[in-house]
Amino acid sequence: MSEAGEFPARRRLLALAVIAVALAVLGALRLWGPYAPNRLVNPPTQAGATAEPGSSVAGDPTAAPAGGAAVPVTAQVETVAVPHRGDAADDAAVWVHPTDPSRSTVIATDKQGGLAVYDLAGRQLSYHDGTKPNNVDLRYNFPLAGQRVAVVATSDGGDDTIRIYTVDPTTRDLRDAAARRIATGTRVYGLCMYRSARTGAYSVFVSDKGETLQQWELFERGGRVDARKVRTLTLGSKSEGCVADDELGDLYVAQEDVGLWRYGAEPTAGEARTQIDTTGRGGHLAQDVEGVALYHTSGSAGYLIASSQGSSDYAVYERGGQNRYLTRFSIAPGAIDAVTGTDGIDVTSFNLGGAFAEGMFVAQDDRNDSGNQNFKLVPWGAIARSSPSPLVIDTRWDPRAPTIR
Ligand code: CA
Ligand code: CA
Ligand code: CA
Ligand code: CA
Ligand code: CA
Repeated sequence: MSEAGEFPARRRLLALAVIAVALAVLGALRLWGPYAPNRLVNPPTQAGATAEPGSSVAGDPTAAPAGGAAVPVTAQVETVAVPHRGDAADDAAVWVHPTDPSRSTVIATDKQGGLAVYDLAGRQLSYHDGTKPNNVDLRYNFPLAGQRVAVVATSDGGDDTIRIYTVDPTTRDLRDAAARRIATGTRVYGLCMYRSARTGAYSVFVSDKGETLQQWELFERGGRVDARKVRTLTLGSKSEGCVADDELGDLYVAQEDVGLWRYGAEPTAGEARTQIDTTGRGGHLAQDVEGVALYHTSGSAGYLIASSQGSSDYAVYERGGQNRYLTRFSIAPGAIDAVTGTDGIDVTSFNLGGAFAEGMFVAQDDRNDSGNQNFKLVPWGAIARSSPSPLVIDTRWDPRAPTIR
């Protein structure tokens, strides 16, 4: 072989080798490096991974979620419809009465004009107008004026404030308790609360219609409740539903078009996050991902539940650990109409007596056959027993008990 022919052959080999090495490096970066797409706790792999803040995997709005068909259950009770027409009912929080759990209530938002309180038969006990609450959450044992009170927070879309109430156990009504007008400086949207088992501090998380989530720490001032902003997270796109795990220090955030994330709930936890599930291919969620809630068992176990609005059902994950996907259920027609297009949800494992002696799941219903939107109440036992692998029914965890270790 002549020298003239040998050099081009070597160059070709060298070029091929360079390309092969470059492809291998790119492949490694894609799998392991900073440019990796968000890897998921749940499909396509079971391996947990953190992702860059602000990064996102877009969902496919036409794809059906993975995880098989939802198990149908039926509602036992529906609340009185909210007074406003159209998309008005949104989120709910179960308040457990301090001495008589059968007198517990569902505190729920009508984002067009008020905050409602319902009893466990769905009757309206009170309705507070002059506010446009989007989401609602509550925590117990807040130290106020020498007492321990249940404190309720709402994100008010009318004036972009955080509203604070306390619950009067005698009347079961709400009392405004904000020390001042708590303006967020952002277009408020989702909201959830956190009580740190580590420090005892109470926080309100409030998201906006852009891409941020603020954390506000609550404190007493002159016998009322004030708040100071302690953290701002950049989520990447619109996020509403959230829930915090007081015992484990986790914060779960539903990024509507993208999926479900876990952050640290402490103000010092930073922006590190883990993607639990996706609205994309192979995920168990159909956008929008809306309300999220925690079912607590004794011993810090339980379930994380997310409203998969686009598929009108609810995905169930393990609480804690890797938040492994378990099952899904829907609320089918029975004596009460089916639930579709749910925004907010809540769940309690606690024994509320009667139909809800095994706990209760609450879901907003986008289309109520008997009037404006309302909320449906489902016995947890029905959900737990219907699941292909029965879910736990454990009524021992008391949400009213102090959580400081
Ligand atoms: Ca809605
Ligand atoms: Ca909630
Ligand atoms: Ca939403
Ligand atoms: Ca319905
Ligand atoms: Ca109905």
